[in-house]
Amino acid sequence: TLAGRTALVTGSTSGIGLGIAQLFAEAGAKVMLNGFGKPEEIARARAEVGKAMGVAEAPYSAADLSKPEAVRQMVQDAQAALGSLDILVNNAGIQFVAPVDEFPEEKFDAIIAINFTSNFHAIKAALPGMKARGWGRIITLASAHGLVASPNKSAYVSAKHAVVGLTKTVAIEVAQTQITCNAICPGFVRTPLAEAQLPALAKQYGVSEEVALKDHLLEHQPSKRWIEVEEVAHMALYLCGPGSGGVTGAALSIDGGWYAS
Ligand code: NAD
Repeated sequence: TLAGRTALVTGSTSGIGLGIAQLFAEAGAKVMLNGFGKPEEIARARAEVGKAMGVAEAPYSAADLSKPEAVRQMVQDAQAALGSLDILVNNAGIQFVAPVDEFPEEKFDAIIAINFTSNFHAIKAALPGMKARGWGRIITLASAHGLVASPNKSAYVSAKHAVVGLTKTVAIEVAQTQITCNAICPGFVRTPLAEAQLPALAKQYGVSEEVALKDHLLEHQPSKRWIEVEEVAHMALYLCGPGSGGVTGAALSIDGGWYAS
């Protein structure tokens, strides 16, 4: 379904981004990766996604998305390495949890820069090429926290709400072209980082990890199960595949009923 398409997925050395990059490559796209990690983790991700593309290793940018100039350079590098940039997935993100009156200022600024402002710089840099070729897909990885709040996540919730606002604005600016811009809003997704919170939660509440998952981590997720990375990747693939052109400016929940409840 993505044969002949080119894609840049930010934060794709692990978790959701890697899952999206892998599925896009399997669907026939040429994909550039980005993100941090140990050299062997990055090499493994490049080899895995490269295999699906039929090359030894997928192209990769080490850009630090907290730096606007690096974001612009990454988009240029993607256009050079892939020949064009049809699909931009703004996925990279970080988290930090503290009450607002104790929230470290540099952490707040870093979350806004990486989780939100980088999306603006990447979209601004990628859009002219999409307009020139008359087709494009922009996806932002927001969150259920782009639509509702939880305590102690002031920076993350603010950044994700801002991502949804940016997504809607870009969508209506290009609504009469073949370019769409949509936000995916997952609930808790089973990634190594998210799962790693369970032992501490179990200890804190003196319960088993199973109870910690259902009653504490997934307190607001009525399905009481993780969303899987592959499920998020398939939503992203749908947004880039045939028949998706009418969906734009949407904040698509994949959250086991969280936003509905
Ligand atoms: P993850 O930690 O597994 O992956 C994050 C990626 O971003 C990694 O590749 C990391 O190297 C990269 N990254 C971090 N800082 C960077 C920087 N300054 N420059 C470049 N790359 C950077 O996280 P994940 O769970 O896969 O999350 C991916 C996205 O999905 C994030 O935006 C996150 O907020 C969002 N999300 C995750 C969940 C969840 O439950 N896991 C739920 C909703 C939304």
